[in-house]
Amino acid sequence: MKKWIVWGIFLGLTVCGFANDCTAPPVAIPEATPEAMAFYRSGNVLYIVQLLWSLVVPALIVFTRFGMCLRNFCTRITKIWFWNVTLFALFFLLITTLLSMPLDYYSEYVRLHDYGLSNQTFSRWLNHYLTGTGVTTVLAIILVWIVYGIIRKSPKRWWLYFGLLNFPLAIVLVFIQPIWIAPLFNDFGPMKNKELEHKILSLASQAGIEGSRVYEVDMSADTKQVNAYVTGIGSSKRIVIWDTAIKSLSEDELLFVVGHEMGHYVLHHLWWGILVYTLITLVTLFLVHVTIVPLIRKWGQWMGFTELRDIASLPFLILIYSVYSFLLAPVGNLFSRSIEHNADTFGLELTRLNHAAATGFVKLTSTNLSNPWPGPIFVFFRSSHPPIGERMTYFNTYKPWCHGQPLKYGRFFKPESGMISYYDSEKDFFTNSR
Ligand SMILES: [Zn+2]
Repeated sequence: MKKWIVWGIFLGLTVCGFANDCTAPPVAIPEATPEAMAFYRSGNVLYIVQLLWSLVVPALIVFTRFGMCLRNFCTRITKIWFWNVTLFALFFLLITTLLSMPLDYYSEYVRLHDYGLSNQTFSRWLNHYLTGTGVTTVLAIILVWIVYGIIRKSPKRWWLYFGLLNFPLAIVLVFIQPIWIAPLFNDFGPMKNKELEHKILSLASQAGIEGSRVYEVDMSADTKQVNAYVTGIGSSKRIVIWDTAIKSLSEDELLFVVGHEMGHYVLHHLWWGILVYTLITLVTLFLVHVTIVPLIRKWGQWMGFTELRDIASLPFLILIYSVYSFLLAPVGNLFSRSIEHNADTFGLELTRLNHAAATGFVKLTSTNLSNPWPGPIFVFFRSSHPPIGERMTYFNTYKPWCHGQPLKYGRFFKPESGMISYYDSEKDFFTNSR
């Protein structure tokens, strides 16, 4: 009998967490399993293949002069600028999608099934793929109208005007994404576990978030992986939790995850993200402009277009843009890793669930087949989040409240005021790479 009482106390401590986690022992950082290492290494090879393919396809279209032939074909159908540009963009996107489809099928369907990470049926994958292609085609054609419309009006400053226009365009996209685009793929609804929902809303109230919206999404139809994120702007702003996270994490582990997302929410990381994205795009477009104009002057005759305003230059523009955006990706990653670290700090200070944060990451390492210690080149070019090993070390050690030290984000927190009255129900929490 005494034995059961002792076990009961032990389990209670384990389930409820250690008092403010000040006395909790550090959680050991798991080693990557051989399967996780195989997934990591093959993922790096796949990343390089996909990168090269994304350059080879437009390069082939330019250097075989297929772009020029396509422009001539479209001009025979219509000479009206708007329709001519639309047709060219449509055919170009169709061709590039068809050429990329086998690689997409392998990376999104075959490979994830091989590693036991996907729950998708083939028909569901195809449905998502075709829907995604439809959405990106519509958005890409709108962008082509805007870019080439601006190039026609201002061939010297187009990069500046289009770069600046990216700020409002990104705001519109982030606003509509959770309302119109994300529901095309998955079902979003209020949380099913009402007790947990109450705890999350109480935490939101402590974090100073009023009228928060928390959604549960049925990602278990697609994947075994675990994630949560913040998205939307203004009235479309929301925290979204994958149902896979709700199923596999304990209550405390999930509360830390949500606390991290609340950090993105309160610290306006989406706005900062849009601002930094706009600045990086401006620099990229400037570099594209100063590179592409002399190249067209030199080789334009041979490539079949002599001016950037000619729609036949689109594949060449995309090729040069892709090279620079690859070279500048580390800047975006560096910024992303810094806001993810800040969201971790916010989540720890808000919940003080250091032990649960770390045990949640042990589960994540195993369910997502993650490598806790990726190499520096991987981190530099691909990691939008700090490595899991680094994050777990931080969870194990960052406890300023245990030593009477001030909190970095204490000014945002409110004393627990019970439930907030209204409820109707940034980016990835766990995904380690772009
Ligand atoms: Zn995050």
